[in-house]
This record gives sequence, C-alpha cells and structure tokens, in this order.
Amino acid sequence: MLEQTKMTLTTKVLIGMGLGILAGLAINLLGYKEGTFVEDNIVNGLFFIIGKMFVTALKMLVVPLVFFSLISGVLGIGDINILGKVGAKSFIFYLLTTALAIMLAITIATMIGIGENANLSTAAVFTVKEAPPLSTVIIDIIPGNIIDAMASGKMLQIIFFSILTGVSILMVGEKAEPIVELIEISNEIMMKMVTLVMEVAPYAVFALLAKAIANLGLGLLADLAGYVLVLIFALMIHLFVTLMVVLKVFSGMNPSVFLKKMRETQVFAFSTSSSNATIPVTLRTVIDRLGVNNSVASFTVPFGATINMDGTAIMQGVATVFIANAYGVELGMMGYLTVILMSVLASIGTAGVPGVGLIMLSMVFTQVGLPVEGIGLILGVDRLLDMIRTAVNVSGDAAVSVIVAKSEGKFNAAVYNNPEAGILTEENLNIDVSAEHELAEVVQETHDRS
Ligand code: ASP
Repeated sequence: MLEQTKMTLTTKVLIGMGLGILAGLAINLLGYKEGTFVEDNIVNGLFFIIGKMFVTALKMLVVPLVFFSLISGVLGIGDINILGKVGAKSFIFYLLTTALAIMLAITIATMIGIGENANLSTAAVFTVKEAPPLSTVIIDIIPGNIIDAMASGKMLQIIFFSILTGVSILMVGEKAEPIVELIEISNEIMMKMVTLVMEVAPYAVFALLAKAIANLGLGLLADLAGYVLVLIFALMIHLFVTLMVVLKVFSGMNPSVFLKKMRETQVFAFSTSSSNATIPVTLRTVIDRLGVNNSVASFTVPFGATINMDGTAIMQGVATVFIANAYGVELGMMGYLTVILMSVLASIGTAGVPGVGLIMLSMVFTQVGLPVEGIGLILGVDRLLDMIRTAVNVSGDAAVSVIVAKSEGKFNAAVYNNPEAGILTEENLNIDVSAEHELAEVVQETHDRS
C-alpha cells in the first residue's frame, strides 16, 4: 500500500502509456471495424472524450500560464539588456539545432537511399493548406488586439505583449508594486493548476494512445516501413546524440539526467502531438526538475514551442529525400540547401500543433519543385510519426532552455542534479487541509466585514 502511494506521476504516466499502446494494438489487431460497438462507444466514445477533455484542459492553461509566468520572468530578470541576450541566444540555438536536425535527416536518408522503389499507388489525396509567408509572420508578432490574440492562442503575439507589459511595469517602478505581487501570486496559482490537471494524466495518456493506435493503419506502416524506420532512426539519433552533445558542450550538464527527467514531458508530447498543448508540462519540468530559473524558462519554453521544431525538420528532410527518390527527381546540392533553409524558416512560421509539419512540408516542396501530391504518399503514417517528432521537438526546447539559463547564471545545478527535485507523487499533490481552512477563514472574514 505504502509503495503505491509513493509511486511517482512519471511512473504512472509511463504505465498509462504502455497499457494504452497495448489496448490500442489489441483493438486494432482484433479486427477493429467501423460502425461496431467498440468503435462507437469505446474508441470514439470513452477514449475520445477522456483524451479530448485532457488536451483541452492543457490548452486552457497555456495562455494564462504563459502570460503570468512571462511577465513574472521579465520582472525577475529586471534588466532589458539581459532580456535581449536571452532572446537572441535562444533564437540562435533554436535555429542551430533545427539546421543540424535537417542536415542529419538528409544525410541519413540519402545514404540509405530511401524511396527508390516506393509503391506510388498507396498515395492518398493531399490537399494543400497555405502556410503564411515570412513577412506576414514577422508583422504578426505585434497583436492588433490582445484579447483576440489570447482567444486564438497566437503565441508570438502573447509573448510580445507579456514582455512589453513586464517592461512597462518595471518602468513604472514603486507604484506598480501591488501589480508585481498580483502577478507573482497568479503565476504560482497557474503552476498549481498545472499539477492538478496532471493528476489525471495517466488515465488521459492511456485514452489518447489507445485511440491513436486503434486508428492507425498498421498495413500502411508495413508498406512504408522504409520511410517510417529511417525517420524514427534519424529522430532518435538527433535526440540521443546531437541534442545531448549540444547540451553537454554548451552547458556542461549531464545528458543522462536530462533524458531521465524529460521522460514525462516526452510522453505528454507523444500523446498530445502538440508542443503547444505540452507547454504547461514542459515549463514545469524545465523549472522544477531541471533547475532553470523562471525568468529564462517562461520565455524560452513558449518561444521554443512556437519556433523550434527539430523533429518536424527531420521529418521534412527524410520526406523530401523519400518523395524525390520515389518520383525520380534529382534535387542536387542547391535543391538540398534550399530544403535546409526553407525548413528552418518554415519552423518559425508555424505553430506547434498536430499535423502542422505537413503544411510546412508542402511549402518546402513547392520551393524545390517536388510534386506536392507526393505528400499523400506519407499521409497515412503521419499520425504516429507526428507523435514521435513532437516528443523530439519539446526535448529541443528544454535542452536550449538549460543551455541559455546556464550561460546567463539563471540556473540551479543542485536542482538539476537532484533526482527527487520537483517530482510529483500523490503525497506532495495532496492539498494542505489546514492551509485551506485558514484561507477559507480569511475569505469569510473579508465577507463579514463588507
Ligand atoms: N505536432 C508538432 C508539434 O506540435 C508539429 C508537427 O510536426 O506537425 O510540435
């Protein structure tokens, strides 16, 4: 019994993931058919409802969390020059890791020569959605209406407004002290809300994965095994080798500690397929478990979720080589350089939400003259690959957060090295009843007075 209450949330989430995959596989393999009881009531009923409610709850947290934590981050830094340095450094590292990712992907895929005898008849119809041009992306950083920006979750606009608010509060100085306190407390309340939502994570992860795997076209996976395996291989090399070398070289911190502490966040990213929806969890892990100061993390994490997509870049590299080979198109050196540049730029312009990688890919294809219909070839297996690459995307965000924080002296190595730091167990999730009563009394007194 005692053992059970001590089980950490990470362990439970991992169990949820394992069981979810098994349940999904069982449903899939035992002849999952459309219109059956299992499809209507379990997969598209129970699993869908639980998963959707959880992802919506995570999304609910994103905007207020980013808003309050970023303002309090700016107040914590207190110096506009340092703020500029954090911004510039994280931007450079995000571009660097994305460029490394796509170069690695193109190298591996060309060396293996994937797609040379692909079966073009499996192509599904792919309708192209327009990706925004870079000029629009840059202009769009400034929100015309902040309520609209918040309502539609436009991350770069929210980041811009929060930083401006923080800087203005600093400039007002002493008079703004009540607001500073309000922001700090609001930030703490939002972080608490994250831990509350995470309490149901093991069940939600189970439901999300069972549904995703039950719906996967496993036959298609076999057809496209070459593409899928090469892509997963490149993603793993980037996560375990490239990113960890970058982390070690630029921060000196131990990569295996990083990987261990990131497991939970990776599972969230894997189950939601969305870097954006994972922001609350990434932020909590980076601050409480990896020792990055809120002043840096509150900026680098939402910024990274929006502009840094290493896993997505890898998918684009492998997919480009695959489709070029399948259609017998010779891209040449210039073609590949264009792909590298385009996919780094495309990752800045598109948000971290499910499936967006394919939209970016169509942008890359148009630029290098590859048939956009070719995307239909890989569409069927993209759901699973999206899950895996999103886990790589958030790992890149966290690694860069550690590097930037360390270089700015906004990093607590003792927290990073402490395996217990920030761990969630049922014990520390429990609400302190006496504190709760005290607060209720204060509220009552205030009511009585008024
Ligand atoms: N789902 C990915 C993310 O949110 C983006 C993509 O590759 O489609 O990071």
